Amino acid sequence: MPELPEVEAALDVLRTRARGRTIVRMRVLHPALRRRLAPSQLRALVGARIARVERRGKHQLLHLEDGRILHAHFRMNGDWMLTETGAPLPRFARAVLDFDDGSSLVFVDSRALGTIDVHPANAELDLGLGPDAADPEWSAEHLATALALRRGPIKPALLDQRLVAGLGNIYAAESLWRARISPFAPCNSLGRPQVTKLRKAIDAVLVRATGSRYTDDDTVALDVYDREGLPCRRCRTRIERVVQAGRSTYYCPHCQPKAEPKSSASAKKGARGAR
Ligand SMILES: [Zn+2]
Repeated sequence: MPELPEVEAALDVLRTRARGRTIVRMRVLHPALRRRLAPSQLRALVGARIARVERRGKHQLLHLEDGRILHAHFRMNGDWMLTETGAPLPRFARAVLDFDDGSSLVFVDSRALGTIDVHPANAELDLGLGPDAADPEWSAEHLATALALRRGPIKPALLDQRLVAGLGNIYAAESLWRARISPFAPCNSLGRPQVTKLRKAIDAVLVRATGSRYTDDDTVALDVYDREGLPCRRCRTRIERVVQAGRSTYYCPHCQPKAEPKSSASAKKGARGAR
């Protein structure tokens, strides 16, 4: 599933190949997208120029010169493909933007769950997103404040785009493994050192993944995600998989114990006593 690094890679394609181009036609090939985009909206795109491309969490915003926004989201799957206008379309092509230079941008999505919308000029766009996971301004302090208000387990919380935008199932698992935090740990039980470790781990995981599309690349291995039954890369304990809030969670029971590691137990006790 495309997460922040994959969406960022897709945005690179848009930045280099779509920015500055004028749309001569938009074709919508899948019924689900046809329901979102009225023929009049598609016609009104003719002649519009793409001024700027922006990522917010996992959302892709193509800002048109007149203020309208072409808003794409890959959801479970999806990618952009570049081709010449009129060339045979790939399987699973769901929508096509034809540009004035004879190139076309194809929205490819095997699951057909991705979305494209057009927002009118000057529309208030509320995507319900918290701070972006790649934002350097987003600090461990911000994260600690947000987590203190939540009782549920940390892993599903990291998928909540209102807590932090851009993480999905893969990089949430990788970040927790890296920070040695149990996916079951209640958010508000995490001591400050753990939250600091988690913030750093998210950063490291995203930096490592950005631009490499490493989930599709056999040469760059994930540490814990999709490794059920395989030895942990740190301690050789078998990685376990459980279903948590409807999604697979992978973790190392030794490196990510349910009980808190001793190092932060005292911090937790202190917090409890203060309450
Ligand atoms: Zn381990």
